[in-house]
Amino acid sequence: MLLTITTTHRPATDLGYLLAKHPGRWHEKDLSQGRAILFYPEASEERCTAALLLEIDPVALSRGRGARNGSQAPLEPYVNDRPYVASSFLSVAMTRLLGSALKGRSRERPDLADTPIPLKAELPVVPARGGEPFLRALFEPLGYAVDCARLPLDPQFPSWGDSRYFTLRLRQTLRLADLLTHLAVLIPVLDDAKHYWVGEDEIDKLLRMGGDWLARHPQREEITRRALRRDRRLVSEALRRLTEEEDPALDTREQSAGDEEDALERDLTLNQCRLEAVLAALREVGAGRVLDLGCGDGRLLQRLAAESSIQHLGGCDVSPRALSLAARRLNLERLPERQRQRFDLFQGSLLYRDARFRGFDAITLVEVIEHLEPNRLAACEQVLFAEARPATLILTTPNRDYNRLFASLPAGAFRHRDHRFEWSRAEFAHWCEAVAEQHGYAVRILPIGEVHPVQGPPTQMAVFRRHDTPAGQGAAA
Ligand code: SAH
Repeated sequence: MLLTITTTHRPATDLGYLLAKHPGRWHEKDLSQGRAILFYPEASEERCTAALLLEIDPVALSRGRGARNGSQAPLEPYVNDRPYVASSFLSVAMTRLLGSALKGRSRERPDLADTPIPLKAELPVVPARGGEPFLRALFEPLGYAVDCARLPLDPQFPSWGDSRYFTLRLRQTLRLADLLTHLAVLIPVLDDAKHYWVGEDEIDKLLRMGGDWLARHPQREEITRRALRRDRRLVSEALRRLTEEEDPALDTREQSAGDEEDALERDLTLNQCRLEAVLAALREVGAGRVLDLGCGDGRLLQRLAAESSIQHLGGCDVSPRALSLAARRLNLERLPERQRQRFDLFQGSLLYRDARFRGFDAITLVEVIEHLEPNRLAACEQVLFAEARPATLILTTPNRDYNRLFASLPAGAFRHRDHRFEWSRAEFAHWCEAVAEQHGYAVRILPIGEVHPVQGPPTQMAVFRRHDTPAGQGAAA
């Protein structure tokens, strides 16, 4: 099993400092089921390649703790692919041999460790369950140029067809630590068979290595599922922590036993519908300055950023972690200053009066209100309707009536364990009309998602318009 990493950064031999392994030497580490060797097939000023070679003892492996009992063919312990393919052993070897580089530390070249440099990684044999589309879906969203080719089962007998193995080449200018953590997390995911037992601490490891990129990765669910060997409890716990309990798409999946994929599909569509519905309402009022309160990881902000009619976008959340995810999703760090000025992300709570909430044409609260304690609702009403007083206020929340259609949701349970309440259609309408009346707003309630003839839509939306707003204008007073 072999991984090579090449850089053309100058002097390329600095790779040795970054890996904390001298290019002129041969570095070895004994692992419980084999041996890891790091050496440099080339090391010049222009180009330097480090090769990580793993020698696995398949027999030791099959007798060791990682043995998969029962399911093996009689010869499998002796004849298996483990010595040759990139798998979770590679991640273990990387952790053992390249620990400081994985963490982005370098004693001699700390600045370089923080600097994106041109890097190429090559794996001559990776097993890819899911084939080329999955390989690309894993690495392309992380910014890699992916070059892969499926290997024939036996080059001497082409008629035998293809194997499930690929050669994989990845190229990108990025920090070495990022390349290493991507590989350490994703190679076992491609292999989809961890050689060791996964337990609770595996979640920590995954989240530590996954850093922020995993939370933003479009394949994060599949990555997590495979990384944790599809252990339902671990997977849902990891996803919860990755998204800080905030992703309604995950709730139903957690609760549904049989139709995991269907629920996911349904919720993804529902999320999409929600964003589109809010966007349509904002377009209708012509809001140019929009604040998303409880913006979470910034999905709505990202959608709104594509609207040229919106000149200014604010995002506020109590959770700093959510805000940093949102900043990354919006790519704020990389935006030129002038474009960045269009955004204002800040930490705050909608339970406290805040001057920063003023001056927006529209404020949105998407799936936020149900996270508040009912006894804090009055404070939130005051902040929104009496203090901030935007011309338009848009709010979405689950429709509790619809819950009985989720077969797996126990009667009376909420869709999410962080929800403090869920309103029926009648309760929501009642609350909306009362606050509108009290604060001089008109309100319209609209369905989001496919409407059930009896239970109504899965999500309900209220669009409040301040009475003194001239028709067709979104502008704040
Ligand atoms: N609007 C986002 C996130 C919904 S989850 C979306 O649709 O994807 C609810 C969000 O409300 C979380 O990000 C949570 O941190 C935030 N939140 C909860 N209480 C809050 C408060 N008092 N003030 C501001 N944000 C709050």
